[in-house]
Amino acid sequence: MTKPQLRTQILSRREALSPEVRAEYSHKITQTLTSLPQFLTAETIHCYLSFGTEVDTSEIRLAAFAAGKRVAIPILEKNTPILKHCIIQEHFEFTNGHWNVPVPTGIEVGLLSAEELAMTEKDIIIVPLVAFDKEKHRLGYGKGFYDRFLQHEKALKIGIAFSLQEVGQIPFESHDEVLSMIITENPQY
Ligand code: ADP
Ligand code: MG
Repeated sequence: MTKPQLRTQILSRREALSPEVRAEYSHKITQTLTSLPQFLTAETIHCYLSFGTEVDTSEIRLAAFAAGKRVAIPILEKNTPILKHCIIQEHFEFTNGHWNVPVPTGIEVGLLSAEELAMTEKDIIIVPLVAFDKEKHRLGYGKGFYDRFLQHEKALKIGIAFSLQEVGQIPFESHDEVLSMIITENPQY
């Protein structure tokens, strides 16, 4: 199957999960993630704001704030294929940005490049994904934003997904980044 075919198939599979089940699985994923020794020692947690039927990341950020960590989120800009980033505080307001991805209000002054964010190998990047396989290959939404970002990062790259997003084999290209770990609601994964 091609990447576009896989995206369509897996996204419709994910949309079939009820909101209750999605919330329950997101909670389990958060528990597993926040119990990792690497989570406890990380100084910065980079975590996308979830939208649509993605794994809900709000509890992950709450846990990071409670542990006194620096919390960063990606910011999509329409005219560049490079992600920008923003450090957020616990109580922030957000609105819908490009492609309906939530963005905090009032970020104009706080946009950072990945270099300025300066994450290290101690830190964690939570990576959204459409589909994954056992090789920890990842299929995104098709714009390559995370491939470009992760390419230069030494932080632990943790994909989070529901187990129904696993496929036999992702068509893997040379620009695709391999994840360090994938967490699903299934503890044995
Ligand atoms: P996704 O990872 O979002 O599923 P793809 O892997 O299909 O999407 O990549 C989408 C586009 O982004 C491709 O045309 C690819 O050439 C481009 N791309 C991905 N990573 C890079 C990179 N590191 N440098 C330049 N272009 C890239
Ligand atoms: Mg890719």
